[in-house]
Amino acid sequence: MIKLPSAVTKYFPYSDVRPYQDEFISTVYNAVHEKRSVLIEGSNGLGKTISALSACIPVAMEKDLKILYVARTHRQHDRVIEELKAIHRQQPVTGVSIRGRNEMCLNVFAARGAFDSKSLMEVCELLKAKSRCPFYTHVDERTYEYIQLQQQVAVRPYMASEILSVCRKKEICPYELIKSALSDARVVALSYLYVFDPQIRNAFLKGMETELQKIILIVDEAHNLPETAVDISGSSLSLFVMKQAELEANRFGNKDIEAFAQFFRDEVEKLTDHVYREEIISADRIIEIIQKQGNVAHPREFFESLHDAGAAIKKSLLAEGKNPRSYVHAMSEFLLKFLDTVDDKSFINVASRYLNKEKNKTAKLQIVALDPAKVTEPVFSSTYANVIMSGTLQPLEAFARITKLPQNTVKCIVPSPFPKEHVFSAVCLGVTTAMEKRTPAMYQTMIQRINEVAENTPTNTGIFTASFDVLNALLAEGLEHSLQKPLFHERRGMTSKANEKLVADFKAYGGKGGGVFLGVQGGRTSEGVDFPGNQMNSVLVVGVPYAEPTPRVKAQIEYYDKRFPGLGREYGYILPAMKKASQAAGRPIRTLDDRGAIIFLDYRFSTSYCRNFLPSWITNGMKTLPNETNVLANEIINFFKNQS
Ligand code: SF4
Repeated sequence: MIKLPSAVTKYFPYSDVRPYQDEFISTVYNAVHEKRSVLIEGSNGLGKTISALSACIPVAMEKDLKILYVARTHRQHDRVIEELKAIHRQQPVTGVSIRGRNEMCLNVFAARGAFDSKSLMEVCELLKAKSRCPFYTHVDERTYEYIQLQQQVAVRPYMASEILSVCRKKEICPYELIKSALSDARVVALSYLYVFDPQIRNAFLKGMETELQKIILIVDEAHNLPETAVDISGSSLSLFVMKQAELEANRFGNKDIEAFAQFFRDEVEKLTDHVYREEIISADRIIEIIQKQGNVAHPREFFESLHDAGAAIKKSLLAEGKNPRSYVHAMSEFLLKFLDTVDDKSFINVASRYLNKEKNKTAKLQIVALDPAKVTEPVFSSTYANVIMSGTLQPLEAFARITKLPQNTVKCIVPSPFPKEHVFSAVCLGVTTAMEKRTPAMYQTMIQRINEVAENTPTNTGIFTASFDVLNALLAEGLEHSLQKPLFHERRGMTSKANEKLVADFKAYGGKGGGVFLGVQGGRTSEGVDFPGNQMNSVLVVGVPYAEPTPRVKAQIEYYDKRFPGLGREYGYILPAMKKASQAAGRPIRTLDDRGAIIFLDYRFSTSYCRNFLPSWITNGMKTLPNETNVLANEIINFFKNQS
């Protein structure tokens, strides 16, 4: 039987340790104590946040290190501070969660300007320099009230939202207060960008008066990391931005830039004229267009002059009290990035055609990154230690290789704390969303299986399909009319606000006899919303969400195949799909008290190949059901009967 290391006991704030939580804590503590990284999968309900914190804080205290806890949402950042407060009740520890300036700024002019974060930073600096921000006065003059707040934040954990509300009352800039608290905070909860975007990281660490070598990094929900890392490295330039750059150059009387912006836009239109969705464009082709047709003999020099002109435009806009956003500047940043990545085989250039918000056809050029390790490795190799954790990380070796974790990283899968009888999981044979088998008869069988689950689930049921095509096909085949319970379904292009309302309405049905939610895997709901208790009792994962074989997906597979011979398809195609399926499957099981049925409606999930990519807390005891009516219904009836 594993016990908590004595150094940890001091910080672990609860009297009870959940099943396998001690194993999780000891593994993390022992690794970090030895200055090693740890890659660890632990299911929901294990208490990963408090486990990672109480394992890392003793080492951070002993070696005088800071802990950066990165997670995706504000809710998760707040959770970190809630747990820190629990620790603080028995041991002094400081910490703060941070949000971007655009969420913390109290200045009406700056906040109303709808500035992007870079522009807001410039506006803020100007207002501060000219003493035109009243909320900065307290900071600048180090008033009694400001110093008092600073001292409070320096001795106990605070959430960004708490600091915001106190500062609002006292008319002190919350962003500046948090910035000043960073050097005293032992733990900082923040978004991925602060750590993995090299520019933002450098500025942030400087403000914190520390360096990566003195950081223990905890990455929560780490299954998102490869995708986030390539997103951070990419860039895009749309026809809209080029048109605006042309107009802006005209307004500021810069004829050369105006002519170039117009020429380049025309060329991108021609390039994308025949493109169906997207096409890879060779960097040489773009260079040739710029140099030969555009008569730009020295592209770097010219793009740098564009960059300078853009910076000057921003300054004059700022001086006029306007939003200092320059399209010339944005265009130059893309073009310079293009030159920087031209000889790097881990980037491709993609031209795509798409419909804009007004449903008009338009196009853009994109720089697409293929290698997450280019972003993650410089961080992982420099920190004191890394704790990389999630409920869905298998196979661990693939994750470690894709993100280039240090060679001596400890890898661990912690058993599920859920009593076996709380989770029912099954795969149905005879159904699939494989492209060639998507017939009306196939959808009818799926609808029948969905009804067998929804009718026999006491409250809410979730359905997550492989794509919007599958979702719409189920609707077209009459899913809604066949159901006895109300259906709430996602729509392509839905705003996040509309989606939130849809989810809230569905959740409310958990207490009123139950409803059915229909969404897509890899979507907002299937990745970011929890459905504990009666909010979702059963979930159906309909089909394997393989990406469309677009040119960029093929390029990703080829790139990985070169980096990891023979594994390109597995790493670039299978793994991302299985991560989405695992995330969707885990929605109803969030706390140790939850009980849930997880049903995969695609026979491909029954193969040992696919199962290897699913977390063991789902595959343990997973049944394979024959293609026969009511077999699934009886399994669901029996499962929920035994729960009451
Ligand atoms: S000092 Fe604070 S309140 Fe003032 S503009 Fe900057 S961020 Fe906004």
